[in-house]
Amino acid sequence: MKKKPLVEMSHARVSAQKKRMAECQRLNVCPLCWENLEEWHNAPVIKKGKFWVITENDYPYKGSLHHYLAIYKEHISSIAELKKGASEELFSLFSRFCAEKKIEGASILLRFGEMDYTGASISHLHAHIISGASKKKIENSVKFPDSFIISVLGYKTPE
Ligand SMILES: [Zn+2]
Repeated sequence: MKKKPLVEMSHARVSAQKKRMAECQRLNVCPLCWENLEEWHNAPVIKKGKFWVITENDYPYKGSLHHYLAIYKEHISSIAELKKGASEELFSLFSRFCAEKKIEGASILLRFGEMDYTGASISHLHAHIISGASKKKIENSVKFPDSFIISVLGYKTPE
């Protein structure tokens, strides 16, 4: 199974994350593979499906109230490698999870493929579900763009 590159150090956001990623790179261990998750991910698994597990992000985006990850159990990097039924399960798990957590609105972010194009820090396929404050709650305090949770979607094409 092709497992390289596992991590992209330049996409790490916080120092604890950088430290863990460097250790994974050194040991050639994927921190998100199901067999390694308990050792390399702090937050416990909250929901477990046939293909995916849901857990909290150990390094939530600044300003998020909810930041969970759905991690594919097998080591794949592309949506083209998803097994039949896996995409349906992802949305079904997220949907039930949001209902249980009473999350009224959120964003899903799924980076895939070459990390050079996505800003992903780990090549193992995982989806983010992110939600912060309501517009009402922050109104009259911070304005756009500082009022938004910012995430990397990739590198800008030069203008
Ligand atoms: Zn993996």
